[in-house]
Amino acid sequence: AEAALLQSQKMEAVGQLTGGIAHDFNNMLTGVIGAMDIMKRRIAAGRTDDLDRFMDAATASAQRAAALTARLLAFSRRQSLDTRPIEINGLIASLEQLLRRSIRENIALHVAPAADALWAETDANQLENAILNLTINARDAMPEGGQLTIETRTVELDEAYVATRPDVKPGRYAVIAVSDTGVGMAPELVQKVFDPFFTTKPIGQGTGLGLSMVYGFVRQSGGQVRIHSQAGAGTTVSLYLRAVDAQPEHDHAASSRSVPEGN
Ligand code: ADP
Repeated sequence: AEAALLQSQKMEAVGQLTGGIAHDFNNMLTGVIGAMDIMKRRIAAGRTDDLDRFMDAATASAQRAAALTARLLAFSRRQSLDTRPIEINGLIASLEQLLRRSIRENIALHVAPAADALWAETDANQLENAILNLTINARDAMPEGGQLTIETRTVELDEAYVATRPDVKPGRYAVIAVSDTGVGMAPELVQKVFDPFFTTKPIGQGTGLGLSMVYGFVRQSGGQVRIHSQAGAGTTVSLYLRAVDAQPEHDHAASSRSVPEGN
């Protein structure tokens, strides 16, 4: 079955998650305290031969806790967006080399830009990160290889459409659609993918933050993210960004970076 999803309030899940994270963190601390306690008793009893093992356990547990808080901090840090008109086709073209290097040889990358220049109001660095994230997800969904397509177009969301989506403003949108011919997702899975820390990937490979960060950034810039997926057939993730009129030609890479001021 096909599942189309418009996200609206998943970021609120962050609050609900806090309890779970606190629990995980507590478990890690318990590991450290337990190992310390054993070491203390062994030292008191003069059994110092085997302390390394407990030192290592304490260190590993503390490192897991540190990694968890680092991820949490990176996630909660709401960077203010550096939003300006960006030409999307040019941005994708300049990213293509990196995208090619991020996939495997058994995946064919097809970039299909809209015929005309496509200007949207967005943060170039964040958008690059988002497209890279979607590309890596597509790659991971195609372990046996397949086709990855990045397509751009404009779409007009009219009042009638928007009436069913109170969180969307009517108007013209630039759409960036990243499609794969991979494993796809069942509808129940699609419902969860924007949740922070939700991942089906093995530990060390997935953080579960990719799509929630993509979602946060796109929503923050007044756009929307939609997922169409079919288990066993593939997935399309579409980013809708508010389109703006064509701008005087300029180098998007140069204009997308702000130079910090001195001191
Ligand atoms: P991560 O990639 O670290 O797991 P994400 O938030 O990017 O975190 O993705 C969450 C989950 O959504 C993935 O673990 C995977 O189960 C699912 N997912 C994301 N993109 C795709 C895709 N293109 N095809 C199939 N499943 C996907």
